[in-house]
Amino acid sequence: MAILEIAQIGDPILRQRAVEVSPEDISSAATQSFIDDLIDTMRSANGAGLAAIQVSRAIRICVVEVRAPNPRYPYKPSIPLTIMINPEIMPVSTETFSNYEGCLSVPDMRGLVERYAEVRLRYLDRDGQRQDAIIRGVCAGTFQHECDHLDGKLFVDLVEDFGSLTTWSNFERYHQAKFFEDAEKIVSRFGS
Ligand code: ZN
Repeated sequence: MAILEIAQIGDPILRQRAVEVSPEDISSAATQSFIDDLIDTMRSANGAGLAAIQVSRAIRICVVEVRAPNPRYPYKPSIPLTIMINPEIMPVSTETFSNYEGCLSVPDMRGLVERYAEVRLRYLDRDGQRQDAIIRGVCAGTFQHECDHLDGKLFVDLVEDFGSLTTWSNFERYHQAKFFEDAEKIVSRFGS
């Protein structure tokens, strides 16, 4: 078990396209232990998710977990630990919602990003088993954010209204109350 260093915006690794992991590599002791380190690093930083590329390994693995209440994201519903290898994500409807996002690789910054409200997610789990799930609501935003990392994208690339950019303390001071209200509407509609 190890806590890995998280790359920060401006580090070119965050802009790379991560490469697929082969089925043989998934079962290797090195990959399995790396996945454990990725989970420990996410939990230690109170992240809702973490992609391998954020700890400077340009491979298509990311993890998501929210154990509510998460101090960084108190409005987020719980998401069980999900380990995704070579994930593919696609919208299943055109509906979107505005998500106030932050990122462990973008220190002290949050901004509004439009995310699909319902997505289909296909991936291999850590046992190499195919998984296929529909994710709805605020949780769908978390999965889209992590999958974007694997293609070298950061949430700041998707912010349309730069006026929404805010530090975390100013988020709490000026934007949180309204955003929590909006997020609760999405959560109550989709149940997640
Ligand atoms: Zn991120």
